Amino acid sequence: MSVMSPRRSAVPSEVLGADERRLVHEFVDEQIRPIAAELDQSERFPRELYLEMAKIGLFGTTVAAGLGGAGGTPLDYLFVMESLSYGYASVADQCGLIEIVGSLLAAFGTDEQHEQYLRPLLCYGRTCAYALTEAGAGSDLGSITTRAVRDRDGWVLTGEKIYIHNAPVADFAAVLAVTDPVKGKRGGISVFLVDLDLPGVSRAYQEHKMGQRASQVGGLVFDEVRLPADALLGEEGHAFGYMMEVLAKGRLGIAGLALGISRAALAAAVTQAGDRSQFGVPIGANQAIAFPLADAATELRAGVALAAEAARALGSASEDAATLCSMAKLLASEGAVRHADVAVQVFGGSGYIRGYEVERLYRDARITRIYEGTSEMQRLIISRALLPRNSDRRGERR
Ligand SMILES: Cc1cc2nc3c(=O)[nH]c(=O)nc-3n(C[C@H](O)[C@H](O)[C@H](O)COP(=O)(O)OP(=O)(O)OC[C@H]3O[C@@H](n4cnc5c(N)ncnc54)[C@H](O)[C@@H]3O)c2cc1C
Repeated sequence: MSVMSPRRSAVPSEVLGADERRLVHEFVDEQIRPIAAELDQSERFPRELYLEMAKIGLFGTTVAAGLGGAGGTPLDYLFVMESLSYGYASVADQCGLIEIVGSLLAAFGTDEQHEQYLRPLLCYGRTCAYALTEAGAGSDLGSITTRAVRDRDGWVLTGEKIYIHNAPVADFAAVLAVTDPVKGKRGGISVFLVDLDLPGVSRAYQEHKMGQRASQVGGLVFDEVRLPADALLGEEGHAFGYMMEVLAKGRLGIAGLALGISRAALAAAVTQAGDRSQFGVPIGANQAIAFPLADAATELRAGVALAAEAARALGSASEDAATLCSMAKLLASEGAVRHADVAVQVFGGSGYIRGYEVERLYRDARITRIYEGTSEMQRLIISRALLPRNSDRRGERR
């Protein structure tokens, strides 16, 4: 297969070998792509698929093998996310969620928390959520109001989170809460591991979304939930720093997810450009159809190269890693929306009809410009790195 073929990932990998890459490609082609349209249509949560993915080690790519992960690098993680998303973005998103919560637990959890949460998470024995966003705090996470108050033998948690991936199905959530309102985002925000069957927890509702419809998203309400002392993850007041650290990896993952959507859109459009004839020739014989595909293929490779650079920077703890991850997410997510649009155009009327892959890709791509920090927030982060002395650093934003 030509290296130009969009049927295979162009993301290099480090620890994963050729056999493991082939296994991922085969899994995507045989287990994910055939059911993507049905999952989109039914909004079904494919637990059985996630159990299979856990069995072949697709969760926790960068978590140490000793803790139940795959022991890979951020570049391997990028490869996994891009490949899964070529199959179906919701499946990649589940993998990304587990990677973030798993990375938090691996880095800051105690041995007991590793046993209770991390290992069951990576074998899909327990399902997680990552609960930051509130009605009044989206891009500006420093303004959350969910509150955890110390009592005799633990904490009491009160507040409400919205738009939380996996909220309708999760067994536990990593929840961001204020522990010291005076210090606020400068040492007054902590993260708690909350079992979602505790008294006082309720799952508010389930959202119905434009795209990535098999991802279950909803609200979580905490009404004076009593938590044990060891529900605190890491040190009190340090959560903001922890979250910012894993958000860079999260952005790398969404860059991979967006690149996978672009690749799927390009593959479908290239096939259609050759198969569909009008005026007696394949539509791809017209430059009006061929050139946007050439641009998409070029931008896709540039996106892969930037994301790979960001992954290597993250792996070597470079001081530029967070900025590069923001750049990679920005380029890939803006590209995914454009490339899905090109694919719809190449398909003509059928590109607008339910059941055609490119119609789904067009909807699945849109959220990549919003979640894990909007494109505007990525530009803010990148411009701050460019213009450090001009930056407004008063606010802490994702
Ligand atoms: C499908 C889905 C899944 C999600 N999953 C999760 C999850 O699992 N966990 C979780 O915690 N959250 C999750 N979210 C929430 C998501 O991260 C937020 O929606 C996102 O960060 C944006 O916040 P917001 O919606 O409040 O928009 P706002 O912050 O209100 O922003 C609205 C608009 O204003 C712009 N804007 C805001 N401030 C500025 C500024 N200073 N300069 C320029 N532009 C600005 C933004 O870029 C955006 O365009 C999810 C959301 C969705 C839709």
